[in-house]
Amino acid sequence: MMKRANLHRSAKVIATLGPSSSSVEVISRLIKTGMSVARLNMSHGTQKGHGQLISDIRKASEQVGLEVAILLDLQGPRIRVDTLPCPLVLNEDEIWAIGPAQIKLEYPEYENRFIPTIYEGLVNDCDTGARILFDDGLIIAEVNGKEQDLLEIRIKAGGVLNSNKGINLPDSSVSAPSITEKDLEDIKFGLKNGIDYFALSFVRKKEDVIHLKDIVKDQSRDIPVVGKIENIEAIERIEEIIDVSDMIMIARGDLGVELGNHLVPAEQKKIISLCNKKGVPVITATQMMESMITNPVPTRAEASDIANAIWDGTDAVMLSGETASGRYPVETVRMMGQIIQEAEKTPKSRMSIKDMDLGRLEDSIMIGASLIAEKIGAKRIFSVTESGSSCLTMARFRPLTSILGISNSLGVVRRMCLYWGVSPFYLDEYNEDIANFEQYVVNKARKACELEEGDMVVIARGSGKFFTGTTSNSIKVEIIK
Ligand code: PGA
Ligand code: MN
Repeated sequence: MMKRANLHRSAKVIATLGPSSSSVEVISRLIKTGMSVARLNMSHGTQKGHGQLISDIRKASEQVGLEVAILLDLQGPRIRVDTLPCPLVLNEDEIWAIGPAQIKLEYPEYENRFIPTIYEGLVNDCDTGARILFDDGLIIAEVNGKEQDLLEIRIKAGGVLNSNKGINLPDSSVSAPSITEKDLEDIKFGLKNGIDYFALSFVRKKEDVIHLKDIVKDQSRDIPVVGKIENIEAIERIEEIIDVSDMIMIARGDLGVELGNHLVPAEQKKIISLCNKKGVPVITATQMMESMITNPVPTRAEASDIANAIWDGTDAVMLSGETASGRYPVETVRMMGQIIQEAEKTPKSRMSIKDMDLGRLEDSIMIGASLIAEKIGAKRIFSVTESGSSCLTMARFRPLTSILGISNSLGVVRRMCLYWGVSPFYLDEYNEDIANFEQYVVNKARKACELEEGDMVVIARGSGKFFTGTTSNSIKVEIIK
């Protein structure tokens, strides 16, 4: 396992799994083609189905000989339409009512114009004049008036509304708890099934992320949390949310609905640059290759979108419907990889280190190691890492030399699959007493890295009292004999 370590590009591809990709065979092909992280979207499907996917992912990864990380994406306080007996046709200028399903009988006057919602707090949260958007903003309504238990709304842009469609409230502050009962169940499920990352939808403030981290910590577990930025409140508090998150996702789907798509590109650039400055990895997500749900090739606009996200400085890009329910899941991942690879051939200038938040010993060691590797034309940087943290610090500086992240923890190896420019390498048998540690590691990994006589490798690690800590304190150059 994990004896291959080649990487032809640095930014990583996350693919959401679903009906189009739920077999060991398709997942194996996705891994071979370049999926580094498999995302399970808990807004869809059942725990049983997701459990099957997790075991299929691990099986496929074993077969292919490459690790992948599993990202479990929690639904969070997503507001939805309740189950409908049949689709509702909403026409412009009509007046409808919306409220929890059980109150419908109390309002016979709205009998034929009633939209049930699963969210009890809707009436309290929305004021007259506030917009209510359905189905990714394709149907637009405005609050016309309030009754005790329901809102009267006027349809501004009509359409056909189906069961369980999402509802966005861009003008209202949603009071629903950030982690729902369903999320608690899904967190338990994720911990039990050994997932590698949690993502939290609709983060509104730093406390939402801290809350999830505390729940995980209470179970004596350490799973990184990705904060999803997908509404105006999160945009307004972006710095504090980045500061407490292990990673950030620019969830452009809901963000575009809430903010307006015209504002998304500038926000994307701002968030990526802030994350780069603070050293927090960032994922750019949603509708990157949307047309490939039905077509075998992407549009030029989509190719440009991916390339531009790379040039903005994103650590990873994400596919959703394309790989979960599209016709061409494997082709989409392959194409995305090709676009990334081409974009990385003409890199935009790296963020200057004077613009980054730095100061730890670790930062200096990693800057040093990446500069040395570049100046001497090293084939690889080896980062020996206990928790993954030093390897992540290395990735921040976007070295031109590719990084081998070496760890004796399988969990850390999987986590590193999402790190920019890092090929993870599992090395179970190492300890502090090995006489020439650097040479030992090089011997173990030289084949996987296709190193040849005369090649140089820069190795950063913690030695002495730093051996088991999370900080690297030494740099050594080895020449392959
Ligand atoms: P979702 O999040 O796919 O869970 O909605 C991503 C987004 O909103 O862009
Ligand atoms: Mn979303």
